[in-house]
Amino acid sequence: MNNPWMDVSVPIDSRMHGWPENPPTFVSMHLGTAKGDVCNVSAIQISSHAGTHMDSPFHFLPGAPTLDDIPWDAVIGPARVVEIRDREAIRPVELKKMRLKAGERILFKTRNSSVSWKKPAFDRDFVYIAKEGAQYLVDRGIQTVGVDYLSVGGFYKDGIETHHILLGARVWIIEGLNLSAVKPGAYDLVCMPIKLAQGDGAPARCLLRKR
Ligand SMILES: [Zn+2]
Repeated sequence: MNNPWMDVSVPIDSRMHGWPENPPTFVSMHLGTAKGDVCNVSAIQISSHAGTHMDSPFHFLPGAPTLDDIPWDAVIGPARVVEIRDREAIRPVELKKMRLKAGERILFKTRNSSVSWKKPAFDRDFVYIAKEGAQYLVDRGIQTVGVDYLSVGGFYKDGIETHHILLGARVWIIEGLNLSAVKPGAYDLVCMPIKLAQGDGAPARCLLRKR
């Protein structure tokens, strides 16, 4: 059957890449028909920032909105996938060519989609949003930012700064997308984080459909 929706989320399993200081993911068969139980039931242990997930402002900012407060327009509606050529960071020099408009939902496709996810374990050298790039996105009034690895900020640089700039301006953040099969262009976006109460973040299922 024709299915125009592309799933740009990564699978959740015990081998998935995880941020080094976050709790690792464990998935196991708690009940299984293969071992004589009447049904299959998995046990899962997961970080609120595992795989494809969202960050709420509360992730870095005490007292700030949690995932309970998400305005659904931030993650349901038109979105633009843009390709970044810089192999280290997303910076104003490239962003300036994109004619970004206030209210846009922007998903960044970088070399992470083709390189980082294929590594055997967490890639510390992923492409991130430099703090100057984050400030540029805020100044343009971008509503939602999506990135194709586990953090908007870098592992070695701008990890805290980029989160503070985006979350401080109430830009909603999607992390851990895999855009390897997606061409730059205009899409419809649906991204639904699970309903973790007072969530600082939560795993999400994200779909794109060509417009
Ligand atoms: Zn984050």
